[in-house]
Amino acid sequence: MSGPLKLSDAARARVVEVFSSLQGEGLRAGEPQIFVRLGGCNLHCDYCDEPDTIPIPSGEIWPAARLKAAIVRLNIRNPHRAVSWTGGEPLLHLKFLEPLMRWTREQGLENYLETNGTHPAAMRALAPLCDAVAMDIKLPSSTGRETWTLHRDFLKETPASAFVKVVLTAKSAEAEWRQVLDLVREAPRRPPLVLQPVTPGYGAAPIPPARLARFQDLARLRGLDVRIVPQWHHLWGLP
Ligand code: SF4
Repeated sequence: MSGPLKLSDAARARVVEVFSSLQGEGLRAGEPQIFVRLGGCNLHCDYCDEPDTIPIPSGEIWPAARLKAAIVRLNIRNPHRAVSWTGGEPLLHLKFLEPLMRWTREQGLENYLETNGTHPAAMRALAPLCDAVAMDIKLPSSTGRETWTLHRDFLKETPASAFVKVVLTAKSAEAEWRQVLDLVREAPRRPPLVLQPVTPGYGAAPIPPARLARFQDLARLRGLDVRIVPQWHHLWGLP
């Protein structure tokens, strides 16, 4: 844990940055989205590519009105498909997100939530407002802690639009991968599974290609909808 969990109040939250880019990960890679990076995370992954967002608190306090104005400005310049609520861990800001996600839809934008999958109660509250959920399952070899039970509870709350993403590194072990497969197979909606080989240069060594292929084979043998998708935005030189 990086610090005590503390939810934002409804009218303001800690924001690190707001920008326009292409979604670089998962099943909706390549879509134009407006990214809202919220500050603070309850985990500490060894491959984190946004370490400045981990401390609680991190980022600057933004009133909701300032964030709405920034989103409108970006969307006038270029039409986007969705607002990507990311972090840090956006579900630490539940009270702030709820009214904003309603407002986003009124602007004709979808809500795309990127989450570390450890806050099931917050997911339950926001599920009706999410048009896509990219849920991570975190491996203990990368975080130094077991979060299986939280992930299992979280998977009970995700909407049908959710997919599961697992970042794999040189330390990812077959035993923990099999635990991921058990969780996804047992999940009520059995979501698609994305294997994301870690991008070199962010603190964790890459997974050998042969092990990555074996992990995918194991998932296919278990009947799961699975694919390998790297982080495209780093390859494209995008933020
Ligand atoms: S959950 Fe995401 S933001 Fe938090 S430490 Fe891990 S990679 Fe970084």
